[in-house]
Amino acid sequence: MATTGLAGDLAALDRFGKDEDGGFNRLAWSVELRRALEWLAETMAEAGLRTELDPAGNLIGRWEAGSGAPLIIGSHLDTVESGGRFDGALGVLAGVDVVRRLRAADFVPARPIWIVAFMDEEGERFGTAMVGSQAIAGELTELPAELEDSDGVTLGAAMAGWGRSPDRLGEARLAQPPWGYLELHIEAGPVLEEGGSDVGAVTVVAGIAAFEVTIEGRASHAGSTPFGARRDALLAASRLVVELRERAVRGNYLATVGRLAVEPGGISVIAARATLTVDFRADAAPRLDAAAADLGDALAGIGELTGTEYRCRPIYRLEPLPMDAELIAAIEAAAAEVGVRCLRMASGAAHDAMVIGRQAPAGMIFVPSVDGISHSPAERTRAEQVEIGAQVLAATVRRLCA
Ligand SMILES: [Zn+2]
Repeated sequence: MATTGLAGDLAALDRFGKDEDGGFNRLAWSVELRRALEWLAETMAEAGLRTELDPAGNLIGRWEAGSGAPLIIGSHLDTVESGGRFDGALGVLAGVDVVRRLRAADFVPARPIWIVAFMDEEGERFGTAMVGSQAIAGELTELPAELEDSDGVTLGAAMAGWGRSPDRLGEARLAQPPWGYLELHIEAGPVLEEGGSDVGAVTVVAGIAAFEVTIEGRASHAGSTPFGARRDALLAASRLVVELRERAVRGNYLATVGRLAVEPGGISVIAARATLTVDFRADAAPRLDAAAADLGDALAGIGELTGTEYRCRPIYRLEPLPMDAELIAAIEAAAAEVGVRCLRMASGAAHDAMVIGRQAPAGMIFVPSVDGISHSPAERTRAEQVEIGAQVLAATVRRLCA
């Protein structure tokens, strides 16, 4: 017998963009993502939803019940390159499944329920991110058509393949903010699994502050330049990586150097320049401020020690976003009703909830990730935990729309 329901939908989605390593490639505005959304539109229609692909490439399935502004249940089907099976997809498919469950139980919601698959949450292809949710929220009206992916395809050309245009994203803006927003997502970290919890009720989505740091030293000969005469940019960068880790542990935030480029890059040449990125995460704005101050402090000290100079440029900053207290309480009550263990926790990763949550009360439910792995073909959530997540989501929706 074919698998039905949420497990069946997850299996059906496996057809779109899977590579030989078991990773998924449904990048923003790709053919694979379009085919997946075409399938999803049919699946939504079978569940009784009225579908629309909006000007920002968001697929919206509407259950026009009750009155007033809708409860939106959303996430994304786009992936990073060779991404996992559950990141994003779980939240969208679980939303459709909730509609089926509620209809089967003859539940009549007091307000409309919309299921949304947001466009380009991941941002990997064009260096954008949260495009669909920002467009719906009215925070993004256009993007430069000339942005290029790694194959030289422009955003304008990629969107034209969908009959969409980067200067018309503003048309996706909703006439009124939603009544509320719910997102079921994999934790993408190890906390739930290690603590033996079934679901997480997210209290806050951590903020991000990212910087690009350039350290200027001086190129010279590896054989004839004594240590005391060196101005080694890579030595300075290395000290920075280590010191940021130590400061982050003390300051209770996360710091990651994910990219480091060294020039000129010769075996026997002392590095003249090191360019690196720093990504800070914290669940409160003052801690992000402290992290940024730590970076300046560390650079100044290291510069003095190594005879290097530095420049530091902010790349972006997203403020931490607390989830809504009533929605957190509804999720906890729903978990109790289902009979599973629920843990209050912060989300270190950013999600569409961070954008929609600025417009409307938002809540997020996490399910455990096996070994805490995500953005990888090895990303996995056990079938029974997928089912528990869907049950908690359904019970939360029943509470909010009774
Ligand atoms: Zn995601």
